[in-house]
This record gives sequence, C-alpha cells and structure tokens, in this order.
Amino acid sequence: MAGHKAMSRGNILLQVEDLSTYFHTAEGVVKAVDGVSFSLEAGEMTGLVGESGCGKTATALSIMRLIESPGRIEGGKVLFKGEDLLAKSPAEMRHIRGKEIAMIWQDPFAALNPVQTVGEQIAEVVKAHEPVQVDGWLPWQRRRRNTALWQRVYQVMEAVHIPNPPVVATAYPHQLSGGLLQRVLIAMALIGEPTLLIADEPTTAVDATIQVQILQFLKQLQAERRMTILLITHNLGIVARLCRRVLVMYAGKIVEDADVYSFFRQPLHPYSRGLLQSIPRRETKRGTLPTIPGSVPNLIHVPAGCAFHPRCPEAFAPCTAEEPKTYAVGEGHLVKCHLFA
Ligand code: SF4
Repeated sequence: MAGHKAMSRGNILLQVEDLSTYFHTAEGVVKAVDGVSFSLEAGEMTGLVGESGCGKTATALSIMRLIESPGRIEGGKVLFKGEDLLAKSPAEMRHIRGKEIAMIWQDPFAALNPVQTVGEQIAEVVKAHEPVQVDGWLPWQRRRRNTALWQRVYQVMEAVHIPNPPVVATAYPHQLSGGLLQRVLIAMALIGEPTLLIADEPTTAVDATIQVQILQFLKQLQAERRMTILLITHNLGIVARLCRRVLVMYAGKIVEDADVYSFFRQPLHPYSRGLLQSIPRRETKRGTLPTIPGSVPNLIHVPAGCAFHPRCPEAFAPCTAEEPKTYAVGEGHLVKCHLFA
C-alpha cells in the first residue's frame, strides 16, 4: 500500500489526513467524508471533482470548520501551514477564516443578505479586516461614498472587474445578475488576501459566458497572487483548462489523485474513466454518449467493499468483500482500486 504521499511534491500549504465527517440523522449516519487524505501545493489550483452528493462540499466545510449539527468532524487532521485547524479554538478559526482561508459559495443569491446593498456587505468585510477604515462608517455617513472606507470598497470591486462600482454598490442582491453577484462574493473573499481560496462550484448559478469570465478571473488570480485554490466542480472540462492537480471523490472518499496531465492521459480508476467517457467531444460520433450506470449510493448505506462496485464494469471478486487500499501508480498518481494491488 502506498498511502498518501505528498512528500515528493513542492511546498505543501494544506495537508488533509484521514479526515472523516459524519452527519448523525434520524435515518442513520451519513458518512459524507470518510477517511479523506490529500494535499494542496502552494500557489496551485487543484480540482476536486465528483458527482453531486459525493462529499465535495462537506470536505470544504470541514476544512473551514463550518460543519453544523447534526454533522460532526469525527477525526483526522487538517494541517494548514503545518498547524492542525481541527485543534484551533473557535476564536482562532474566526481569524483564520477570511484572513487565511476564504470560500466562495455555490449560490451567490443565498450567500448574500437580501436586505443590505452589496456595497454595505463588502464594507462590513473591509471593516472586519482593515480596522483603520472604521472611521469612515458612522450612521450619518451611510450615504456618503467618498470616505476612505468607500474608496476601499470601490477599489475592491474594481479589482474583480465590477463595472461602475459607485452605482453597483448601491444595488441590492436581487437587482444584480448572477455573474455580478459572484464577483461581489469573490471581492469579499479576497479582502483578507487569503492564502487559500476554496471555490465551491462558483459558476453553477451563472450562464456560459459569465462562467468563462469567472473561471478566467480565478486563473488570473492564482497566477498573479500565487494563490492556492481548491476548485470544487463536477465539470472535468474546467479542471482540464485550469487546474494543475485533480482529486476525484466518490461516496465520501478520494478514489484518484493525480496531476492533470497524467490524469487525462491515463485515468486509472474505473469511475474516473467513466466520468471522462461521458464528456461530449467534438469528435464523438452521433449516438448515445456513454454514461456511468446507476447513481451515487446513499451515504447511509454505502455498498460493502468498494463503494463503486455496483456500477463498476471491471468489478471482480475482492471488490464486494474488501475496501481497496490506495496505491501509487507512477510518481504522485494515487488510485484506490483493487485492480492496482
Ligand atoms: Fe471497480 Fe473493484 Fe476497482 Fe472498485 S475496486 S473500482 S469495483 S475494480
């Protein structure tokens, strides 16, 4: 067994070790994250992919320590700059969130306060991170836009290419498009100049043109600020274009971990191969696109052995009896499958 080897890679910013997060519901225990290990190299963008319900968002929320009841982090380590976030106090985590690690949410409409203008919401975050600006925020100054605080708000908005900041700042979330709202969220996430940005399906709620703009912007951020980004997506095309590494998740576990080049050249896990085959390509002949049969298992009743075995075209005897270990196949390419024992 190879286990998780991050040592041969460069400067590791985040190392997740054997992380488990379960939700204790009336129906049973949902093992949303079940013994997950991976690492993120500083200054790189890594894609975390898998179908809906496989545990991607629960992994992100566990890293941020934002799991709410009935969820609980059951065990493992989340080493950020060498320090275990799971051992930090709530006050320390509040400081780390936003300042060191920030998150962009899937649905910008849900993430913003509907009864506050976006400018005021950005200003709140500026105040939290840059106390020197507080004197620009007094009740009778609420409509003034020329204070140091508001100049900073506009500057932050300009940095994410929001047009005409003084006007957009006065809008309420429902008055703006999904693309603009996502930029507002990105602006808020960047105020603390975080080292790690977790982007959870940041383009789900926007149309195709805006998707491209937002993804290009994330790529630019990563390149210019040497920011480490964990990009959660179900879209392997996005991973191919933007990421350096890819983590494939299935039923609460990482089943493949590779650099993007080796992954797309030679995907190893049968699930990864199924995902890649189901992407439409220009050269695909007319006919039905291959799909992975069945659906993601209920995480309360995960199949015994390899959780993918009911859907796997290559399943053989050990797959139903024993959970596969993680094997290294080539430099830094890990796969959790009995075929590589
Ligand atoms: Fe398929 Fe078996 Fe590998 Fe699971 S362990 S992916 S069932 S071959």
